[in-house]
Amino acid sequence: MERIYFDNAATTQMDPRVTEAMLPYLQSFYGNPSSIYSYGRETRLAIEQARKTTAKLLGAHPAEIFFTSGGTESSNTVILGAVRDLGCTHVITSQIEHHATLHTVEYLAHRGEVTVGLVTLLPDGHIDYNNLEEQLQEADGKTLVSLMHANNEIGNITDIHRIGELCKKYGAYFHSDAVQTVGHFEFNLRETPVHFISASAHKFHGPKGAGLLYINENVRIQPYIHGGGQERNMRAGTENVYGIVGFAKALEIANEELEKDRLFVQQIKTHMIQQLKQRVSTVLFNGDAEGESNYTVLNISVPKSEKSEMLLMNLDMSGICASGGSACTSGAQQGSHVIRAVNPDPNRIPVRFSFSKYNQLNEVDYVIDRLLEFI
Ligand code: PLP
Repeated sequence: MERIYFDNAATTQMDPRVTEAMLPYLQSFYGNPSSIYSYGRETRLAIEQARKTTAKLLGAHPAEIFFTSGGTESSNTVILGAVRDLGCTHVITSQIEHHATLHTVEYLAHRGEVTVGLVTLLPDGHIDYNNLEEQLQEADGKTLVSLMHANNEIGNITDIHRIGELCKKYGAYFHSDAVQTVGHFEFNLRETPVHFISASAHKFHGPKGAGLLYINENVRIQPYIHGGGQERNMRAGTENVYGIVGFAKALEIANEELEKDRLFVQQIKTHMIQQLKQRVSTVLFNGDAEGESNYTVLNISVPKSEKSEMLLMNLDMSGICASGGSACTSGAQQGSHVIRAVNPDPNRIPVRFSFSKYNQLNEVDYVIDRLLEFI
């Protein structure tokens, strides 16, 4: 049975060109980048080349780019560092952030190290910018704002320029989890009022376990992982050389083909929205599906019934990979904290479909045929 993979917000298939770029660093070039002889110099060079490429593509300086193990580590590093090293005693975030952010903030709040403000959400799942400003105005002490660029479950996109300007006005630090947008949108970080960005290669056809942390050159935090002085003392541990090479290659391809891929993937999403509206009368869309929304993500809900409660399992048995929440919580069957915050209707079942350049338009029709059977 052919599989239809509509879960690209969880992770994506590697681009073969990325695999090809990585292979020499899994086989021939195995030197430790910290070694001073030629084997080490080769891998050091590869890392620094990857840093330069990545910096250029994101409109940043190479000195502002740090490679990590993924989005989770990047966000942990920022949030813990902002409290420990920048004196932040208050964090403003939202209920619909990824757990890499939320659980880190909750951990610090439970320890009494920060107070937390949650930005009000509008019915379409967007943050209320007026409320953000009010909270910034009233905040006591140094504040970190951590608001994601695109939500991984409902796709809503925030205006990071607007948030950044507000943070500037009130002297707050701004971190954005851009895991769902780096590799899918153009960035020019030099022109973006943001102090920290988290990104992850496996969301744009790169390898898992390869992430990025952008730290604006005017900000200094201490490492989260201590040990050797790798990543200019910011992140200890022998570098994931092939992962770093893969990160840069995946971003290079993504940027080169961005417009073409974006149009293609948007077409798939639009087709699915249109077909659902025409054929599935009971469907509702979670988030701002047709507005400020990531072209890769579509979150719907259908009425709860004995049949539809088994929807994800039935889709799986038809070879269709979709998701009920973020990949991290779907295994635990806890339901989605994002949907609970945005559209808490116990009588509806949410399903997230997320697309990539490796999907086909006609897969949408097959998925909707099956959906009609299972609801
Ligand atoms: N933030 C968002 C929005 C995500 O979708 C993910 C994906 O899992 C993460 C953070 C975590 O990234 P990683 O899997 O690289 O740790």
